[in-house]
Amino acid sequence: MPASGTVPLPLEITAVVKTFGKGPTQVRALDGIDLKITAGEFVAIMGASGSGKSTLLHAMVGLTDVDSGAVRVEGKDLSTMSDSALTRFRRERIGLVFQAFNLIPVLTAEDNVKLPAIRRDGLDAKVDHLFRRLGIHDRRHHKPDALSGGEQQRVAIARALVADPAIVLADEPTGSLNSVNGQDLCRLLRELCKDDGRTIAIVTHEPTVAMWADRVIVLKDGKVLTEFPVPAEHDPERLARDYQHALLGASAS
Ligand code: ADP
Ligand code: MG
Repeated sequence: MPASGTVPLPLEITAVVKTFGKGPTQVRALDGIDLKITAGEFVAIMGASGSGKSTLLHAMVGLTDVDSGAVRVEGKDLSTMSDSALTRFRRERIGLVFQAFNLIPVLTAEDNVKLPAIRRDGLDAKVDHLFRRLGIHDRRHHKPDALSGGEQQRVAIARALVADPAIVLADEPTGSLNSVNGQDLCRLLRELCKDDGRTIAIVTHEPTVAMWADRVIVLKDGKVLTEFPVPAEHDPERLARDYQHALLGASAS
């Protein structure tokens, strides 16, 4: 638990190591990660393919057990929670969007979104609002295989937001969206953060997405290489430049 009197951070990761495999082929996907994300912050996690971004996101919510180190969400050490307590905690507090959308094929878009909701009161209005906001309202009665990749991605996002989570984590949430829908989703995430006070962390390699965040954390080979604040102008070229400088500057030193 945190020191008495302090509000716990939404996310606090200390010296986390996660390896896959054994012997000479072993991969250190997370190699001593420390990071803190404060309440109401919007963080973008960037880094080359294989740098550990997805593993980090899974570890943040206890979907991957870590070898050592601690993952605390709202002050709770995930390793001390039972599977059922962890599942409930995730459903109540965290909205998750994975790279694979994991939609249930036999359910309509709307029913996919309603399925994980714990509280049923006001659910119809909530789902209605989210589908309108995400521009998929006319697709709500379709099953996933009748939806485009971008539409499926937005259904997965609606599902992540339906429980009003305090923390939203997403792995490449704009990966299947065209640039207009991608920018619209970024604005929505920013609203959820700045207007509603939610804490948001997304994995992305797109400067046009990362530019909406408050801070960029750069991973390399399972380590936090560096991080930098994002200026308020939402300037993709500036972001791309800062990201390149982060990569080059850190490797030159
Ligand atoms: P990123 O999301 O940044 O592309 P990942 O977190 O998916 O990176 O992967 C980090 C490293 O861990 C990569 O070398 C990857 O091959 C390895 N890895 C990830 N998941 C597994 C797994 N389930 N089994 C074995 N190796 C894995
Ligand atoms: Mg990944």
